[in-house]
Amino acid sequence: MNKKMTPKAIKMIALQAVLVMIAVTVVGGAVIKHQEYKSTGDPNATTTTTEENKTSEVSSTSSTTPSSTSDTTDVSNTEPSQTVADSDQYPYAYAGFTPKITDTNADLSKFIVNGEYALPKGYKPTLAEAVKGSGYYLDYRVAPYYQQMYDAAKADGITLTPVSGYRSYERQERNFENRISENMSAGLDRKEATIKAATVIMVPGSSEHNAGLAMDICSLSESFENTKEFEWLSENAADYGFILRYPKDERSRNITKVIYEPWHYRYVGVEAAKEIKAKGITLEEYLGLA
Ligand SMILES: [Zn+2]
Repeated sequence: MNKKMTPKAIKMIALQAVLVMIAVTVVGGAVIKHQEYKSTGDPNATTTTTEENKTSEVSSTSSTTPSSTSDTTDVSNTEPSQTVADSDQYPYAYAGFTPKITDTNADLSKFIVNGEYALPKGYKPTLAEAVKGSGYYLDYRVAPYYQQMYDAAKADGITLTPVSGYRSYERQERNFENRISENMSAGLDRKEATIKAATVIMVPGSSEHNAGLAMDICSLSESFENTKEFEWLSENAADYGFILRYPKDERSRNITKVIYEPWHYRYVGVEAAKEIKAKGITLEEYLGLA
């Protein structure tokens, strides 16, 4: 009799497990949504702004909130807002950094993160380990593609060692603040120190690493371009949905505003990656933002 009960009990447990998994998935989705701002109807979303510099980009958005010392306001619980550019919201607006908030609901091929479109403060993607046992993480929607690419390269005798994957918004902020402090110790005022810091460290929320969408591979040196790993990536990365995000040519650099980084690969999906590669364009151009 007990033996008859056992398979039934197992079935029940299995059913419960499935229900729990569904619940987790739903809750997980809800958590992601909660952290995001919608860009619905954002009149600025398609505005072409001078990527060059932010100093002239004084926000003309309709916020009527009186400016106060709310620099560190946690915006994650506020009503959906169209932009973090409001000078009372983005902590580095005093130095001319007034990015729009990016649409984190966007398809991964359209998910833009750069100096003009920053993540909402505290954004944290759902993560998964990029290569089993590596200790480096990416957005869970990206990690499997990195693993696939890694395995394929491995089969060709190439090791695409992860060097830097997901990095939290907070860590970006700490790195940035530390650099500001260093610059101030060298005699600059806070505004000057901030502007200078931004030439070497992306302002918080504007790095693709903060979104878990990019991996630095093997090295952080420009000489990486002379390796067989780089050659393999140039040949094959697009097949796994990754692009060389910050190309070497001057035109691209003028668009991305980032130095040549032969090691930094961004996931955009196979279709977009192939198109971007074939046309020799940047992600900004692919998205009609440049
Ligand atoms: Zn990188």
